Amino acid sequence: MPPSSEPETALHLIATPIGNLGDITGRAIECLRGVGRLYAEDTRHSRKLLAHLGIARPLLPCHEHNEQALAREICQYLRNGTSCGFISDAGTPAISDPGFRLVRHCRREGLPVVSLPGACALTSALSVSGLPTDRFHFFGFLPPRKSARLRVFEEQHTSESTLVFYESTHRIEKFLGDAEVVFGAERVVSLARELTKQHETVLTGPLHEVRSAFSRGSSKGEFVVMIAKEGYCL
Ligand code: SAM
Repeated sequence: MPPSSEPETALHLIATPIGNLGDITGRAIECLRGVGRLYAEDTRHSRKLLAHLGIARPLLPCHEHNEQALAREICQYLRNGTSCGFISDAGTPAISDPGFRLVRHCRREGLPVVSLPGACALTSALSVSGLPTDRFHFFGFLPPRKSARLRVFEEQHTSESTLVFYESTHRIEKFLGDAEVVFGAERVVSLARELTKQHETVLTGPLHEVRSAFSRGSSKGEFVVMIAKEGYCL
């Protein structure tokens, strides 16, 4: 591959695939190749993506614990005219992933930030769910404690928005059980599992049906849970 020209001097937030490695834009690939400094949430993880794309270049670590300090470093590079890129492990940076602090710091310093949009579990799940997408409330991951989860559910019981949550393999069963206690067995939900991957499954229907279909299948994988507003019928 010929060397790419360096993109504009800015912090580039580059979306990467959430499963299927084909889900990356041409612009993202150009930027991964050409950006002056490329930071990643987990360099070992992202090196596999770069290897798949045939890109050999240094990757610098930027995770939750050094994000604030690196924000200052990145601003200094931007002031000196070096473009910087950031990728999280999967999907869109800063969406339930590191990146927010970097962006906030650059914006406070008046430095440019540009988006290279692409895969995001939130928008992918919502778009295939069959639930209303005109108004939604994204929660990301709820706190792990049952009492905190129940409190959020109770507060949102009569929400007019579709509620969207990220959940892990370890907690998905408890999440669905608690949701049924608060929202009731007939509340319409959609459960998106392993989007863009080999075992992609989207179950949409009354909560009790989705729960029993879920318990008949594998509980492994990554999940987005969406809960429709009260009274919504498919
Ligand atoms: N920044 C990512 C994005 O743009 O969606 C989200 C990162 S967050 C650490 C990871 C969570 O996103 C997973 O636990 C799961 O809830 C959701 N997720 C990521 N990939 C997914 C997929 N392929 N299918 C379903 N959910 C997924």
